Amino acid sequence: MANETILIVEDNDKNMKLARDVLQAKGYRTLEAVTAGEGVAAAAQKPDLVLMDIQLPDFSGIEALGKLRAEAATKDIPVIAFTASVMEHNRHQIMAAGFDAFISKPINLKEFFATIAATLAKRGGGTS
Ligand code: MN
Repeated sequence: MANETILIVEDNDKNMKLARDVLQAKGYRTLEAVTAGEGVAAAAQKPDLVLMDIQLPDFSGIEALGKLRAEAATKDIPVIAFTASVMEHNRHQIMAAGFDAFISKPINLKEFFATIAATLAKRGGGTS
């Protein structure tokens, strides 16, 4: 399936445009939010996956993840951290927060689509 809906939470115009354009080109539907609060609200539309920036204007993507996980309606939506290349220990911190995967910016298209496809494939698998 390539028509899953992906919610992009990103406050940088260029990163948002690039993520949206390449996802739509692959056949994904997209929803967009430019603040963490908007992202949490938009998740009520039940996207199949959330691509979450970490540094957002109102509160962090890590806090937003916590809010999504705290609500029954959104707790099972996979959330990928979408953030600038960081040092390894920061990456570990982000993964320890409970994200399903990590995608670094600037986007490497091959990594970007592979991570999204793998995360969608795991969703609801329930065998691990
Ligand atoms: Mn940001």
